[in-house]
Amino acid sequence: MVEQKILGMVRDADEGLLQSDIWKEVGIGSSKCSRIMLRLEDDGLVKREKETLNGVNTYRVYPIRKSSRKSKKKSDYDCLIVDGEIAPCAGCDADCSPEQCSSIGKWIQSLIKE
Ligand code: SF4
Repeated sequence: MVEQKILGMVRDADEGLLQSDIWKEVGIGSSKCSRIMLRLEDDGLVKREKETLNGVNTYRVYPIRKSSRKSKKKSDYDCLIVDGEIAPCAGCDADCSPEQCSSIGKWIQSLIKE
């Protein structure tokens, strides 16, 4: 699969690869390469930085290592904090009955307001 091949190439190049070189090397069009790069970027597998080469705009593509991706996932927990308060369920050891729990009710209200 082309996407896997590109990802492998990028991972082998710590100094990054020019996107304009990648699509030529792989034998696909620049538009298809851009779509693949956007997907890989969205998945947190690569990062791109704009670069101009001989007056032509392109990107330098760098691999994102697993250790770096962990910190991105960590930010997924940001939704557990609203107005500096952590979700009431975190660390709660009460007999859970969400329909009766005023804490979770207030929490949901604060999410709706945000
Ligand atoms: S819903 Fe209420 S009782 Fe249940 S875990 Fe969350 S805070 Fe605790």
